[in-house]
Amino acid sequence: MRIDVTDLKKSPGESIQVELSSPLPELEFYGERLSFEGPARASLEISNTGKALLVEGKVKGTLGVRCARCLEPFRWPVEATLSEVYYPADSEELVVVEPTQGEYQEWIPFSGDVLDITPEVLKSILLVLPMRFLCKEGCRGLCPRCGQNLNMAPCACPGEDVDPRLMILKDMFKDSNR
Ligand SMILES: [Zn+2]
Ligand SMILES: [Zn+2]
Repeated sequence: MRIDVTDLKKSPGESIQVELSSPLPELEFYGERLSFEGPARASLEISNTGKALLVEGKVKGTLGVRCARCLEPFRWPVEATLSEVYYPADSEELVVVEPTQGEYQEWIPFSGDVLDITPEVLKSILLVLPMRFLCKEGCRGLCPRCGQNLNMAPCACPGEDVDPRLMILKDMFKDSNR
């Protein structure tokens, strides 16, 4: 995701609204590679504070993921908030890095007339992802014996409805009756 800031760079105190739509590279997530389905869209305000460019707004996209229980692929919509500070690396002026409003904010150097916000967009999306993806709240997952997707239909495995804790009891009884 790239933003042309040629004009904005020359106008301290100004800000611009930018709507972007662009493909994003794959995300590394717990050793897995997640790819985006279609382009991600960003709605941003970029302000020239005189010392730096402030980028604030929202990014939306759709990730192709797999359910942690039933392993079915499905789409996961994401929406992340972006709030970044970019300072010109080629600036003659010394940039004082100070936390704004008591909140720590990372200052990111940039050079030239184009801001590439892709790394920060990916980072902020990673922050809003859950530990694992579930296709739905009550996903029944796969039968541990035959692998049948129990969302589609129950399988024919015996004792499927028996609580596993009761199964252990049953086995214990079997042994003691021998
Ligand atoms: Zn599922
Ligand atoms: Zn089964």
